[in-house]
Amino acid sequence: MTDINSKAATVSFRNVTKMYGSDVTAIDQINLEIEAGKLVTLLGPSGCGKTTTLRMVAGLEMATKGQIFIGDVDVTNLPATDRDVSMVFQSYALFPHMTVLENVSYGLGFSGFNKVETLERAHAGLDLVGLKDYSERLPSALSGGQQQRVAVARALVLEPQVLLFDEPLSNLDAKLRRQVREEIREIQQNLGLTVVYVTHDQEEALAVSDEIVVMRNASIAQMGTPRQLYDTPADTFVADFIGEANLLPCEVTAVNGEVANVLLGDFHTTLPSRGVAQGAAIIAIRPSRLVIGAAEGFNAVVSKATYVGSRMEYTLVSGFSTMFAVRDDVDNPLSIGQEVVVGFSQTGPVLLPVS
Ligand code: ATP
Repeated sequence: MTDINSKAATVSFRNVTKMYGSDVTAIDQINLEIEAGKLVTLLGPSGCGKTTTLRMVAGLEMATKGQIFIGDVDVTNLPATDRDVSMVFQSYALFPHMTVLENVSYGLGFSGFNKVETLERAHAGLDLVGLKDYSERLPSALSGGQQQRVAVARALVLEPQVLLFDEPLSNLDAKLRRQVREEIREIQQNLGLTVVYVTHDQEEALAVSDEIVVMRNASIAQMGTPRQLYDTPADTFVADFIGEANLLPCEVTAVNGEVANVLLGDFHTTLPSRGVAQGAAIIAIRPSRLVIGAAEGFNAVVSKATYVGSRMEYTLVSGFSTMFAVRDDVDNPLSIGQEVVVGFSQTGPVLLPVS
């Protein structure tokens, strides 16, 4: 049987701007390098420019300024039909009157494969997505998750240099979303595909990506591995967008090289300075990295305590902020009104400039 191989290529944006008319700057001078064989997610709030960026890779939108490369080829002015790119849409976009096999075979005919090759490749594609027994069904006789897998197979069999996913899971329920995203990730890794993936779901982005590009207002706020973005966000926007974060107002009283002296209420501590200057600043800290009952810290009062099965969730009120904390210890819950000392776990707090 035919193998589906990868011709994975890099994607580069060099100073790319996209205007719609003369008023809307959808993308503002972005630079972006996507390595071959990696899955990179574009993540950000509605209207930040994710879809426009994806469509510019596909050639469905043209850059107003700058250059776009796929591999070594400058594709900036190439129409979609001349680019070696396939796209999987949110709505699956299957032909309802064609069988699964016909849907997956459809694009292959245009790509110059003969009938035998087309059939072999289509079957190989369906095998990859676990649907080899469904080839004669119509899309209407499939679940949403199966339809999306057909759409993935249809894109895969073309062996594109770059595979694009536009919010591919948004029409699926929560359980299927997890399953299909794991399948997409597994196929991408096994075949070494270059994938650009758009989502506004941060958990999905953390789960599937080699790297995430967090976008804000037509620009890139930060690009990094899920871990880098989660542990060392560049600013309060990224800290708040990737996972939950408490943003605590503090005062940097002195900076000695890499170390900042920080005052949080009446609690003095030191943190890596990360370029933050003396004066008002923000400490970003995840709910799970607040240590309730620490030996050193600031005073707070428990104002809410919620049991959610696997853990306790607490709202804590201090003189300078209200914060959200979680604790695994469900057997010894804190009570409302209880006074506690709150500290930070060692890798928890990140000092950020006031935005
Ligand atoms: P969403 O998550 O809501 O899909 P997005 O991050 O994908 O948002 P884009 O669709 O890329 O955002 O849109 C970026 C900006 O460009 C928005 O301000 C949007 O209103 C604008 N825009 C997008 N398409 C057009 C168009 N065809 N004409 C004019 N403005 C547009």
